[in-house]
Amino acid sequence: MIKGGESLELAHKIQTIVLDKTGTLTEGKPTVTNFITVGGTVNQNELKLIQLAASLEHNSEHPLAEAIVRYAESQNVEITDVDDFEAVAGSGVQGYVSDKFIQIGTQRWLDEIGINTSMFVEEKQAWESLGQTVILIAVDGQVEALMGIADTLKASSITAVRMMQKLGLSVVMLTGDNRPTAEAIASKVGIERVFAEVRPDQKAAVVKSLQQQGKIVAMVGDGINDAPALAQADVGMAIGTGTDVAPRRK
Ligand SMILES: [Mg+2]
Repeated sequence: MIKGGESLELAHKIQTIVLDKTGTLTEGKPTVTNFITVGGTVNQNELKLIQLAASLEHNSEHPLAEAIVRYAESQNVEITDVDDFEAVAGSGVQGYVSDKFIQIGTQRWLDEIGINTSMFVEEKQAWESLGQTVILIAVDGQVEALMGIADTLKASSITAVRMMQKLGLSVVMLTGDNRPTAEAIASKVGIERVFAEVRPDQKAAVVKSLQQQGKIVAMVGDGINDAPALAQADVGMAIGTGTDVAPRRK
């Protein structure tokens, strides 16, 4: 579905193409691949933490949240009620589960709100270098667990990026993930220029900054956390959930 002739007129002038990572370059169906707790390996405490985390994330529509809920289901952990749920865009979620205050999110966010995140440094670095998104789980203000979540590249992404580069386009990747994770994914897909650690409310500004360098910019995204960036671009292309309104052919 093409909206407006102006997009078509601009399409052949595109110089820079910005690709969202999750759901655009990747499948957008992340899976929990690693989980460790302060207490050690598989034990009652671990299952309890999975229960607290999944119950909280059950209230979120973020793809990472769905991964955590699926992981809990695979461990036969029951989801329970949450009070005062709050999602902090690009950072994490928080709320009360079983009278405990649970916060799940990025190290940056937990650092910002004064929670000690100094444990798990080695594990975090190792998982990120594999391209995993790493999140921390805090209970009542103490970090209790670390989780690594991986999202596979779409089979067509490497070819698509190569074709765009052959057309002479400058291909850049835009993601909220932190730099090591983003660089690992970008190098797998053949992209050199990466904007990482970009919060949802900053994504449109990145597109704008490229435009201010005199570039005609296209943005490709799946509409999750990137709708303003799609609107800011000279040409915005929505794929995946963003195309749900478009007629489908089989
Ligand atoms: Mg996305």
